[in-house]
Amino acid sequence: MKVLITGGTGYIGATAVEIMRSLGYEITILDDCSTGHADTVPTGLSFIQGSLLNPTDVAQALAGVEAVVHFAGKSLVGESVEKPDLYHHVNVDGTRILLDQMHQVGVKKIVFSSSAATYGEPTQIPIKESAATAPTNPYGATKLAIDHMLSAESAVRGLAATSLRYFNVAGALHCDRGWLTERHNPETHLIPNVLRSSAENPLKIFGGDWPTPDGTCIRDYVHVIDLIDAHVKALESLASPHHEIYNLGSGDGYSVRQVVAAASTALGYAVPTLDSPRRAGDPAVLIADISKARDGLNWIPTRGIEAMVADTVASFK
Ligand code: UDP
Repeated sequence: MKVLITGGTGYIGATAVEIMRSLGYEITILDDCSTGHADTVPTGLSFIQGSLLNPTDVAQALAGVEAVVHFAGKSLVGESVEKPDLYHHVNVDGTRILLDQMHQVGVKKIVFSSSAATYGEPTQIPIKESAATAPTNPYGATKLAIDHMLSAESAVRGLAATSLRYFNVAGALHCDRGWLTERHNPETHLIPNVLRSSAENPLKIFGGDWPTPDGTCIRDYVHVIDLIDAHVKALESLASPHHEIYNLGSGDGYSVRQVVAAASTALGYAVPTLDSPRRAGDPAVLIADISKARDGLNWIPTRGIEAMVADTVASFK
């Protein structure tokens, strides 16, 4: 099957390219490399360095394609609060152009990277797909708007669509070109920041007074390899015009201090930390109910927090 992977040079997209290529998919990448890295693209792969906002680039990228796996978009919560219009333009308007171009050339299948940020502050843990959606930042609002767009497209234009709502993605993949890993600038994510912590620049722990057993926030971490496995299963199960939503996490929660402890074990020294004020917009606890993905996609994540930390440690060496 020939597949267009948008955002295929980012952390998660590049991992998808590598895994899907090894599974035998024929791939075209569309990415403007605004946050991704062109050096992740395998030699000889069809790569269009262009924008979702440019219909000509999108049309070129869709040539001969049967399905789209759509990762491209802006993904920093804090930045989205400062630049909501930019997030709406790139994520929502960009996806609108992609869907219109897909309709024009008859591409009827899409897997979309949505986010747990669509739920906002949860009223129940673990979070099911049926939970209320009330995003607390523009990033989450754009992901929710796209989910709604996909529902409408499936009803009106016969699209087969799956939205995968990621919780906290972590870990790395080793391939013949080295490690595919998180390389954000600035880096806001916990595990890369834990690994960069030093006595001079200790990891800031954002809040120690949350209503959790050790006072720090709890998150649900899922290994990027398990995450892409779910994308492949979602892609293969797309058939009739329909829109389905699945949560992707591990179903388990780890506090910030538990992640620091796992990293300290992997590194062989105590990671320096600094107790710091809460970060604006952080919910106390986010844990996915993954039973729908387990039953509907036959998907079971197999890599725990130790593997996520160990792979990230190895990828940073
Ligand atoms: N966190 C932290 N220090 C950091 C980065 C993150 O204490 O340098 C905390 C953050 O407040 C949250 C958890 O780690 O409770 C996971 O944050 P991350 O940014 O990795 O993912 P998010 O849950 O925001 O998507």
